[in-house]
Amino acid sequence: MKTAVVTGAGGFIGSHFVKFLKKKGYTVRGIDIVKPSFSDSDADEFILADLRDLDQARQSISAADELYMFAADMGGIGYISAHHADLMRNNILINSNSLLVAQEQNIPKIFFASSACIYPVEKQLVAELTALKESDAIPANPDSEYGWEKLFTEQLCLAYRKDYGIDVKIARFHNIYGPEGTYNNDRAKSPADICRKVAEAKDGGTVEVWGDGKQSRSYCYIDDCCEGVYRLVHSDVDQPINIGSDELITINDLVTLVSKIAKKKLKIKHQLDKPQGVRGRNSDNTLIQELLGWAPPTSLKEGFAKTYRWINTQVNG
Ligand code: NAD
Repeated sequence: MKTAVVTGAGGFIGSHFVKFLKKKGYTVRGIDIVKPSFSDSDADEFILADLRDLDQARQSISAADELYMFAADMGGIGYISAHHADLMRNNILINSNSLLVAQEQNIPKIFFASSACIYPVEKQLVAELTALKESDAIPANPDSEYGWEKLFTEQLCLAYRKDYGIDVKIARFHNIYGPEGTYNNDRAKSPADICRKVAEAKDGGTVEVWGDGKQSRSYCYIDDCCEGVYRLVHSDVDQPINIGSDELITINDLVTLVSKIAKKKLKIKHQLDKPQGVRGRNSDNTLIQELLGWAPPTSLKEGFAKTYRWINTQVNG
């Protein structure tokens, strides 16, 4: 039986990934500063620890076959646009402590959750953009401190491979969404936020959208994210790869899609003074197809039907 340590196990992706590993027969230790918000953790042990503190990292990260690094101070565009120094410092401490303890504990395989936010801003200036390839990352110019920190930690992970031979795997997630994600505070990201607004609106009512709604994104369903991480970790791929859907959609069209799922006719009110992030962002899946023979298969229609159903139940019972 394999053993794994999952950091950020109280968060959205980490809590789903613990469930995923349990189904594969792993013994799992989860670590976070909070327990999962919406259901009990499936982890065999769940340790509350602040990974910014090296002593707590040493007490919580035990020897294991695999370490999955999902812990991060993060949130939606509103949160990332408003938190700079603390967010960078928190994440640098979480990640540098986790890597140091992994090396001390001789953990042979590590996964790091990076982000599409590492890509240069000038490649994301138009909504109808060319999808982002992994090789676009450097020369670097991410549009947020969050993106710079992710890129720094990618390099730190690669340095641990160089110096200590640790088998490091890195995925750049593109907007992961699904049930049991934060939907009702400033850490909520656009998919959950839009589902909540549609669930709260009365038929014929109005939904507020940040920016002019013509900004485009791709969204990857949580089950595909877990499957992609697992396939990557158990492959011989040694370079960062995108894990994202390549089905591009504007925020306005996403509101229309979710409204249809909800069977409501809704108007959109644009809030032009709110942050909207980069103008367009999509995942180029050529490399993941080539290296893993797989790419996230869930359509937006299917993924948002499941996500809306869950958020609607939270909002309306
Ligand atoms: P999340 O906020 O739901 O989960 C992150 C977890 O880390 C939280 O439960 C939080 O309590 C925990 N954490 C924060 N500070 C900590 C600390 N000091 N010590 C221990 N735990 C701490 O976020 P998520 O959506 O599940 O994201 C998981 C990972 O994937 C993160 O690294 C994130 O940056 C990355 N990522 C996510 C997305 C996405 O769309 N959700 C996109 C790109 C990258």
